[in-house]
Amino acid sequence: MPDCIFCKIISGEIPSDEVYSDDELFAFRDVNPQAPVHVLIVPRKHIELIVDFTEQDAGLMGRMILAANKIAESEGLVENGFRYVLNCNEHGGQAVFHVHLHVLGGRQMTWPPG
Ligand code: 5GP
Ligand code: ZN
Repeated sequence: MPDCIFCKIISGEIPSDEVYSDDELFAFRDVNPQAPVHVLIVPRKHIELIVDFTEQDAGLMGRMILAANKIAESEGLVENGFRYVLNCNEHGGQAVFHVHLHVLGGRQMTWPPG
C-alpha cells in the first residue's frame, strides 16, 4: 500500500528499531512508547482493520500471538505480566490503518483503558 506508514516500515523505506521478523510478520519498537516496552507486531500483508480478517487469516492471527509471546519472553515481561492491545477504527483509537498488535509492558497497567 503506497501511502501506508507500516508498509514503508516493513519494506525498510522508513527506518525502525526491529525486534522480530519472519516471512509473514514484522515487529518493531513504537516511536512514541506508552510503556517501558512498547512493540508493534504487523503482518507483512496490508490488512486495514482487524475486522477485515477472514477465515484464511485465522492462522496468521494465531502466529501473531505466538510471535508476541516470544517478544514478551525476550523482553522479560512474562513474570510480571503485560498487555496486548488491538485498536480498531475511530472509537478504538486506531491511528495507523494497517493491523498491528501492541505489546505493552514494564509497568503496572490500569483498567479501564482510556
Ligand atoms: P494505533 O493508535 O493505530 O493503534 O497505534 C499506532 C501506533 O503506531 C502508535 O502507538 C504510534 O506511536 C505508532 N507509530 C506511528 N508512526 C510510527 C512510525 O513511523 N514508527 C514507529 N516505530 N511507530 C509509529
Ligand atoms: Zn500497510
